[in-house]
Amino acid sequence: MSKPFTDPNCIFCKMVSGEIPVKPLLENSHAIVIADINPQAPIHALAIPKHHVPSFAALTPADADILTSVMFAAGEFARSQGLDSSGYRLNINHGVNGGQTVGHLHVHILGGRKMTWPPG
Ligand code: 5GP
Ligand code: ZN
Repeated sequence: MSKPFTDPNCIFCKMVSGEIPVKPLLENSHAIVIADINPQAPIHALAIPKHHVPSFAALTPADADILTSVMFAAGEFARSQGLDSSGYRLNINHGVNGGQTVGHLHVHILGGRKMTWPPG
């Protein structure tokens, strides 16, 4: 892919570019997976597109490859952790009511314990 668009003020863009050093748990053409700094489950990681997309709601049909890569990265990471049989949760927060705190699209991968429903 061509060099992804980055926002110089975005913490996840800084991780993608290497300005903030991270050890990705997994990487594909358009996405990286990192461990969440504040885990809410025994396994809690974030699948992050390399391209700066501010939120799920900002995706357009032109971003289909990005979204596909992010979701496949999440699934591949879950499989690598042995979560396919026990189950896991993928979560995308958008906006204030969704509880989004970082303005760069990311998919939470949560596993290793039984999740509750409805979510808080
Ligand atoms: P959101 O609330 O936007 O859906 O999720 C943001 C997530 O990013 C949170 O779960 C939070 O713990 C995580 N996070 C915020 N800052 C950092 C960081 O500097 N490093 C890592 N690894 N995770 C972070
Ligand atoms: Zn960003």
